[in-house]
Amino acid sequence: MSLESHNFETQAVRTQTEKTQFLEHSTPMYLTSGFVFEDSEEMRAAFAEEKDRNLYSRFSNPNTTEFVDKICKLEGAEDGYAFATGMAAVFSTFAALLDAGDHIVSARSVFGSTHSLFTKYFPKWNIETSYFPVNEVDKVESLIQPNTKIIYAESPTNPGVDVLDLELLGEIAKKHELLLIIDNCFATPYLQNPIKFGADLVIHSATKLIDGQGRVLGGVTVGKKELIREIYLFSRNTGPALSPFNAWVLSKSLETLAVRVDRHCENALKLAEFLESHPKVNWVKYPFLKSHPQYEVAKKQMKLGGNIVAFEVKNGVDGGKTFFDSIKMCSLSANLGDTRTIVTHPASTTHSKLAIEDKLTVGITDGMVRCSVGLEHIDDIIADLEQALEKI
Ligand SMILES: *Cc1c(COP(=O)(O)O)cnc(C)c1O
Repeated sequence: MSLESHNFETQAVRTQTEKTQFLEHSTPMYLTSGFVFEDSEEMRAAFAEEKDRNLYSRFSNPNTTEFVDKICKLEGAEDGYAFATGMAAVFSTFAALLDAGDHIVSARSVFGSTHSLFTKYFPKWNIETSYFPVNEVDKVESLIQPNTKIIYAESPTNPGVDVLDLELLGEIAKKHELLLIIDNCFATPYLQNPIKFGADLVIHSATKLIDGQGRVLGGVTVGKKELIREIYLFSRNTGPALSPFNAWVLSKSLETLAVRVDRHCENALKLAEFLESHPKVNWVKYPFLKSHPQYEVAKKQMKLGGNIVAFEVKNGVDGGKTFFDSIKMCSLSANLGDTRTIVTHPASTTHSKLAIEDKLTVGITDGMVRCSVGLEHIDDIIADLEQALEKI
C-alpha cells in the first residue's frame, strides 16, 4: 500500500522500516555499529554503492533511515540525512556545500550558535556573511555578490518570533540561482513546509518539538537529492551521524507530532492573548496575534502560530529578574519545545554574547522573555505567569 496519497498524520504514524522475520508491530531498535556480508562480492558491491543496503551506522542504519524517510514525507523532500544535533545539521550542510571564498546572505536574527558559525568559524575559510533585517526581506537582493551561494533564514525566528516571507525568499533565490536553506525548527514540518515556497534544503533541530519531550538531541537536513548527496558524503567522512537509539526515539515522537503541536499552539495563542491585556506587559509577539507585524505572512505560510511567545515585562532588567525569580511551576531552562512550559531570558543567557546593538537589531531587550508553551493545562500556565507578573 503506497503511503504517498495519505495525509500528514497517517504518514507520520505509518512510515516504517521493513518488517523483519519477527513481524514486530513497533519498529525495533537496531543498536549495531556495523552490518555483515555473505561474501566478498556482496561487500564489494556495498562499498561501491551498487546496492542500497546498510554497511556501517556512520553511513546509515535502519532506525535513522526510518526517521529520515518520515521527515522527507512530512516536508515533501526528496532525500535527507540525520545528525546528532541540530547544530551538526547546520554546520555539516554549510560545510558540505560551500567552498573557501563563498558568501552567505543570512537573516540578521538566527540561532545563537549559527550566528557564531558565521562570525567566528566561517571567516577562517574566507567565507563571509552579509545580513538583512528580518522585517526587510526585500533587502536581500542588494546584498547578493558574485560569490554568493546561499540565502539562509529561520522563520519564525529565535527568540524574537519574527516571521519571514518564505515565498519572497524563494523567488529571490530562484531569480539569482542561489540555494535557499531554511531552518524550520520553530514551525516543525506540521506547521510549515518551506520546500513548497522554493527552499532547496530544510534543516531541523529535532531536539525541540520533534522529540517534544525534552529527552534526546538530534538534527536533520532534507531537500534536493543532489545536494543531500554532497551532505551525505561529507557526513559519512566526518562523522556527525545521529545514533540509532535517538533515531528510534525521534521516529516514535513523530507519530504524535500533529496532536502535540495542535495543543501547543492552542495553549500558546491563549497565553499570548492573556499577556496582551496584562498591565505589567509592554508588548507580546506571537505569529497568530493580529498585532504581530507579519501576521498576514504568518497566516499565509503557517498552519498555526507555533508554541513560542515572546513578550517584554515592565521595569527592564529588574522587572525581568523579579519575574524569573517569582516563577513557581514553569521551568527556567534553555531548551524549548518540551511538554513542560519553559521561560528563558535571552538577554542574560542564550544571546548574552551579542553586543547591545546586535541584541536590539534581533529584537532582544533587557525585559524580554521567551516562553516555550508546553502541554500543562493552560489555566495553570497562565496562573503561574500571572502571579509572577504581579510581583513586578
Ligand atoms: C536549538 C536550535 C538549533 C540547534 O539545535 P541543537 O539540537 O540544540 O543543536 C538550531 N536552530 C534553531 C532555530 C534552534 O532553536
